[in-house]
Amino acid sequence: MPDFYEQDMVYISREHNCSKHLCLCGCGQMTIMPLDDGSKWWQLVEGPDGRVSFIGSVGNYSFPCQSHYIITNNVANFV
Ligand SMILES: [Zn+2]
Repeated sequence: MPDFYEQDMVYISREHNCSKHLCLCGCGQMTIMPLDDGSKWWQLVEGPDGRVSFIGSVGNYSFPCQSHYIITNNVANFV
């Protein structure tokens, strides 16, 4: 995992089996998504073109922004 996280980039760590990104609304809060086998929240799907989707929406209700979005083919769709 890098020391610096870029906005609008989703980082995936195979070593730690998790994904981290700065909240895609732009508020800068770190969103951490565990992806281990026991995770019931999210499943990572990688397309043949290298684009990623997550099964399961991201709900940042603990952040002031209260963002809720779904990441499909590298694009966040706010819901
Ligand atoms: Zn946010």
